[in-house]
Amino acid sequence: MTSSAPDDVVATLRDFVDRIDAVDPAAAVLGEIEVRVAGDVAVDKVRLTLTAPVARALVEALRGYHDPRDRGCCDHCGGRRLDDNFLCLDCHRPSGLFGQMIMERAARHGRDRAAVGYE
Ligand SMILES: [Zn+2]
Repeated sequence: MTSSAPDDVVATLRDFVDRIDAVDPAAAVLGEIEVRVAGDVAVDKVRLTLTAPVARALVEALRGYHDPRDRGCCDHCGGRRLDDNFLCLDCHRPSGLFGQMIMERAARHGRDRAAVGYE
């Protein structure tokens, strides 16, 4: 995952609003969005007009976003921090059938290594 600089956030928001306003320039104005981000040199502040189409698009975009690190909730504690092996970082138990299979395979692998004298 790449990180975004504060300037990227402001530029991306401006571009997002401009793209939507371009196709519906007479849309009803609902209000404003003000964003302040601290960059390397100064605090950058931007005020964007929030029209009905921009509001709708922003809500859809935010609701549609899925963080690739989000692997759902732990079956045991409900926590949202599952690692790549579906091991819960909160209760330290494997979550779901896939997590259980990985744990069983790892345990079997450990027994096999011990049986041939690696451990
Ligand atoms: Zn858990």
